Amino acid sequence: MGAIVKKPRVLDAAALGELFEALKAAGHTLIGPVPRDGAIQYQPIDGVADLPAGWSDFQDKGRYRLNETGEASLFDYASAPQSWKRYLHPPRLKLFSARREKGRIRFDDEAEPIPKYAFIGVRACDLNAIAIQDRVFIGNGQIDPHYAARRERAFLVAVNCSRAGGTCFCTSMGTGPRAETGYDIALTELIDDRGHRFLLETGSDAGESIAAGLDAAAAAPEDIDAAAAISERVAGNMGRSLDTEGLPEILAKNLSHPHWDAVAERCLACSNCTMVCPSCFCTSVEDTTSLEDGTAERWRDWDSCFSGRFSYVVGGQVRDSTRSRYRQWLTHKLSYWHEQFGSSGCVGCGRCITWCPVGIDITEEAAAIRATDEA
Ligand code: SF4
Ligand code: SF4
Repeated sequence: MGAIVKKPRVLDAAALGELFEALKAAGHTLIGPVPRDGAIQYQPIDGVADLPAGWSDFQDKGRYRLNETGEASLFDYASAPQSWKRYLHPPRLKLFSARREKGRIRFDDEAEPIPKYAFIGVRACDLNAIAIQDRVFIGNGQIDPHYAARRERAFLVAVNCSRAGGTCFCTSMGTGPRAETGYDIALTELIDDRGHRFLLETGSDAGESIAAGLDAAAAAPEDIDAAAAISERVAGNMGRSLDTEGLPEILAKNLSHPHWDAVAERCLACSNCTMVCPSCFCTSVEDTTSLEDGTAERWRDWDSCFSGRFSYVVGGQVRDSTRSRYRQWLTHKLSYWHEQFGSSGCVGCGRCITWCPVGIDITEEAAAIRATDEA
C-alpha cells in the first residue's frame, strides 16, 4: 500500500455505483454488507442495490436485532456478526490433496485460484484487526502464503461509522471510529441539506488511481467539517468503554483471581467469541483419507482456545477447564498479545459481547479483575 494521499473529494450517493464498477473493471470481486437472515452479512454483491439501505442494528450483551429505519442511509449499522477475516483467513481451507496411483503417492498440483476482493464498508476497528492479522500472518518472519496472497490482492473501501453500536468500544482501544490508515479509499456518508453524498479520501496509490476516474468533485470545507463532526459524535456515543491503563500487567498478575471461576460458571465454552473476533487466528489441521479411492486431503479449520482438543498434547489437555480457557482467551487478547505482536489483540468491535449467548462482556470481566486486583 502506498503513501497516504489525502485529497478529499465528494461523491454523490447516486454515483457510488461508479466506484463499484471501477473496482469490478479492475478485476475485483465485491464483498459488501447485505441484510440477510436478520443480520448484516458481508457477502458478494453486485452493486449498490444490494446494500442495506434503510437498515440499522441494535446490539447489546447477547442481543442483536436489525431495524428498518426508512432512511436513505446505506451504511447505518455497526459491526456485522462476521468480519472480513473469513475472506482473508478462510474458516476452512484445503492445504493439499493426494492420491495413490500405481503404488505411488501423487500430489494434486492444480493451484486454487486466489480471489481478488474489494471489501466495501470496512470499519475503522476492522482495519485495525486486519493490521493485526497482517502482523500475525506476514509480519513476524513466518509468512502464511494463503493469507498473504489474498491480502496482497485486496482493495479496502473503508466507511467511517455514522453511529456507534451498543457494544462498541473502539475509542478505548485507539482503533476508531474514524479510519486513519490501512484503507485504499475511505468514505463518510453525509446526509443533510446539502444532499446524500460521500466524503471520499484516498489512502494509497491504488485508491487514488481508482478515485481519479470517478466523477467526484473536490470536497468543500463544509463537507470535511460535516464528516469530522460525525466521527466526533460517534466517538462520544460508544456503547462500552475499557480502561486499558496498566491492564496487561494487572491481568498478568491475577491469573489465580477468583473472578475467573465466576465467569466459568456462565461460560458455555461455545467458541462464539473467538469465531466472530476479527483478530483471533488459531487453526487446527485435519487429514482425511478415503479407503475407497485412495485419496487423502489436508484441511485447515478455524479452531479456538475454548475447544478441548485445541490444547491437547500427548497425555491430555493443557487447559482442561472452562476457567482456564476463558482466562487464556482474555489474557491473550488484553495482556500478552502486546508482548507477542506489539499491540492489544482487541480492537473494540464488540462482536464477542453481542454474540456471546450468555452475555459475557469482555469489558466487564476485565474491569472486575481490575476492581479487585489482588496481587
Ligand atoms: S465467553 Fe460466551 S461466546 Fe465465549 S465461549 Fe464463553 S459462552 Fe461462548
Ligand atoms: S475481543 Fe471482542 S471486542 Fe475485542 S476485537 Fe475480538 S470480538 Fe472484538
